[in-house]
Amino acid sequence: MVYDVIVAGTGPAGLMTAQQTSKFGLKTLVLEKRAAVTDSLMGELVTDKALKFLRVRPDSEYIGNKFTSIVGESLDTGSNIVVDRTLLGNSYLLDEDRCQELMRDRALSDGAEFRYGARVKSVVIEGKSVVGVKYNEDQEARAGLTVGADGSFSRVSETAGFTHPKWLLSYGYRFKLTNCKDVDPNVAYFFVGKDVGLGYLWLYPRSESEVNLGIGRVPSSKENWKKLPPMQDVLRKYMKTHSETQNAKIAAVNGGVVPCAGIIPKFTDAGVALCGNSAGQVSSIVGGGVTTCFHAGQVLARHAKRMADSNDFSKRSVEKYEKEYRKSKLASNITNTGKGMWAVSKYAMFNDPIAAAEIVLGQLDAETLNELIQGHASVATYMTLITDFLPMVSKIGLGYMRAIAVSGL
Ligand SMILES: Cc1cc2nc3c(=O)[nH]c(=O)nc-3n(C[C@H](O)[C@H](O)[C@H](O)COP(=O)(O)OP(=O)(O)OC[C@H]3O[C@@H](n4cnc5c(N)ncnc54)[C@H](O)[C@@H]3O)c2cc1C
Repeated sequence: MVYDVIVAGTGPAGLMTAQQTSKFGLKTLVLEKRAAVTDSLMGELVTDKALKFLRVRPDSEYIGNKFTSIVGESLDTGSNIVVDRTLLGNSYLLDEDRCQELMRDRALSDGAEFRYGARVKSVVIEGKSVVGVKYNEDQEARAGLTVGADGSFSRVSETAGFTHPKWLLSYGYRFKLTNCKDVDPNVAYFFVGKDVGLGYLWLYPRSESEVNLGIGRVPSSKENWKKLPPMQDVLRKYMKTHSETQNAKIAAVNGGVVPCAGIIPKFTDAGVALCGNSAGQVSSIVGGGVTTCFHAGQVLARHAKRMADSNDFSKRSVEKYEKEYRKSKLASNITNTGKGMWAVSKYAMFNDPIAAAEIVLGQLDAETLNELIQGHASVATYMTLITDFLPMVSKIGLGYMRAIAVSGL
């Protein structure tokens, strides 16, 4: 049987793509190397945008918790910034398993076929077009469009010939903790600190006795990385030194890798398109991928419908997905913050990132920080920043120039 669409991977990108292509009546085959769509790390902290893409309500069973404020804090000095809801908007913790089941069930009820334990080895190329995939030992499946939603180390991407030049990766670990004590379930925390390195540690409460404690960091250089304690040790140290988590039990451990350098230069070709982490469609500064994956999956599915209707899976036809995607606001945010991440990581290679974070935490107020995060800071804010942070700005400039000289960027 020839499918309209094969989707490799059931992360948020693959599930959203499959949900939508099935909804549009396309014959969809989903291949997943794991045994189920659940029990994985989908990503959980999101804003209203993700709920809209997922078509779920804030008070539904798909939402594990809702936060009224977010605190950014230094583990070393305790200096902090509180960003409350009036500035930040709503922040939610998704119930990952339920959300994944929801998308899977929607796809199934619209006729999609799921095969588990199906590890994609390579794409199948005929002429200049991808016509399907080989998976497991010797199985093959064919489709008009093959979607590589198989994560940061995508086999579809690699075997279809897409490249990831100088890809910055953020490595992450997460503990799901139970048996915690007196946790305020309304507040989520982000921590920086010398043990954390270039990244952050987070604490997302699920209730008064359950939290998700995680850490994500980018290796700014091999030497810097080796100097840092292993990520799991940093989480365990946090648990020991905070009364809420001292007697907590680790109920689950997940890890993963997120690309933070922005969207890759090309992610479509004849018969093939990438979606999600595989295409670098992840918010570069915070490493958030759920909303961006949902968005990309929806754009891609609309184009898949057009391609199937016209039976045109040529390079030019598939490229239209890439063109529309790149024009979106989410995509330009990723591109801009990706450039920022390069600058920051290069700076960190030659300077002290923690000192920089401390300066920011110590001097920036919540309103200004929020303006910057949301990308609508006024000219006056920028002027104040430039004056206040002149020494740091010039240091970043110097660090960046030295980095360019060394790496030949
Ligand atoms: C520790 C951590 C915490 C995070 N927290 C958040 C958060 O709170 N909010 C947020 O927005 N984002 C978060 N993210 C980022 C987010 O999880 C990712 O950006 C997102 O999961 C990417 O989705 P994806 O579908 O592209 O890829 P993935 O989620 O990586 O899914 C890829 C799927 O493909 C399958 N697969 C891989 N190779 C093959 C193969 N060869 N054949 C078949 N199947 C294959 C995998 O098993 C997997 O199911 C976090 C990431 C990490 C690492």
